[in-house]
Amino acid sequence: MTAEIIAVGTELLLGDILNTNAQFLSQELAAMGITVLHQHVIGDNAGRLRELVETAKARSELLIFSGGLGPTADDLTKETVADCYHDTLVFDEEEWDKITAFFTRMGRETTPNNRKQAMVPARGKKLPNANGTAPGVWFEDGGRIAILLPGPPNELRPLWRAQAAPMLAAWQNCVLHSVVLRVCGPGESEVEAKVGHLFENANPTAAIYAKTGEVIIRITARAATDTEAEAACREYAKNFYALLGDAVYDEDVDGMEDTLVRILRGQGKTIAAAESCTGGLISQRITSVPGSSEVFGYGFVTYANAAKQQLLGVEPRILEKYGAVSSQTAAAMAFGALDASGADIAIASTGLAGPGGGTPDKPVGLVYLAAAQKNTVWVKKLTIGGRSRETVRLRASQQALDMARRLLLELLIPEARMFLRGENADFEAPALDL
Ligand code: ATP
Ligand code: MG
Repeated sequence: MTAEIIAVGTELLLGDILNTNAQFLSQELAAMGITVLHQHVIGDNAGRLRELVETAKARSELLIFSGGLGPTADDLTKETVADCYHDTLVFDEEEWDKITAFFTRMGRETTPNNRKQAMVPARGKKLPNANGTAPGVWFEDGGRIAILLPGPPNELRPLWRAQAAPMLAAWQNCVLHSVVLRVCGPGESEVEAKVGHLFENANPTAAIYAKTGEVIIRITARAATDTEAEAACREYAKNFYALLGDAVYDEDVDGMEDTLVRILRGQGKTIAAAESCTGGLISQRITSVPGSSEVFGYGFVTYANAAKQQLLGVEPRILEKYGAVSSQTAAAMAFGALDASGADIAIASTGLAGPGGGTPDKPVGLVYLAAAQKNTVWVKKLTIGGRSRETVRLRASQQALDMARRLLLELLIPEARMFLRGENADFEAPALDL
């Protein structure tokens, strides 16, 4: 099946907004094994839109539209495409009730032009929008399909996943199932080098996305039933596990914090965090997970040396001799958090998030992380050079959470050095370039 994506909106042509919907839809269609032949951007102009739709419809079985479903006069996609697909629009009471209810919840009143959004195809189908007022629309004309989706990405993406993609799969006489692998440790290019050949497959398909501090691999299978599609995904996932090992930290989660909280709950353990350069981000990520109160009681943000001494008992001698940004301070912070909180494990961060404050000895992006349990601590040195403050902090938090995961699962903590409490070692953890 071949497809074209048509993004409607003068804002896009003016460069006021970036066409992220096209990127999203192209990735999704590729995952479904549908070939995208063209991506178009067109302004809010009925004549030019009609001309484009006629051309595209003649050569492609599937057209996907983003934008122009709103209530205003410039939102004319639905009317124009209905005409091209030999359909008409009818007023839908059920949609209208939803729209008025939505407005009531927002404490606003509908205006007459909102009625436009309750217009749905007479022959085609409507795709209920759980996150906005304008429903998506499905037109069909002699084996040719047009799917219209609302412009705002927070409406388009869920609507696509919940409604449009399953309908499209059903139309192709199959169902789709996806499994998302989350990978932490190797960067995108390293993952590509190891498993690049697995992205060439037709069914299941696999696609790779980079996110700060991790790589996401989405496996999607097409089959007659969901059970078969899921089994095909699981089977294909084995190839990734074989090559990436425990760098694959989980499946179908929103982030490392979900995984860590699940492991802690499973083991009935608690964690504490002592943070300098991450400024509370580690604690924030852990506590963003529902149910984290069972596993997290203490988070220390100790930015100043005085705070590291008073709250975590870091000895002034260590701060003087090695400095606040050092392996020794990170280790002392983790032990301090462990003792002050009584938690089973503790993680700590200290580093230079930048952009200022770097020296030749201790450049911006230098971060030490520590993970302690009982009388043992693992320390890891990161050099996250040339990145923004936010990126340094995010990557540091990600690595710290991963160290905790590995500690709990008794996995090797790569590039980390272990030493014992009270060991007066003048050591430097090895550098891990991120
Ligand atoms: P609304 O009901 O909000 O008017 P709509 O379906 O009519 O929705 P548009 O008016 O075209 O959509 O766009 C609404 C907003 O959605 C834009 O201001 C922009 O923030 C976002 N948007 C639209 N198209 C795209 C796109 N292709 N990529 C990313 N964002 C988009
Ligand atoms: Mg609009």
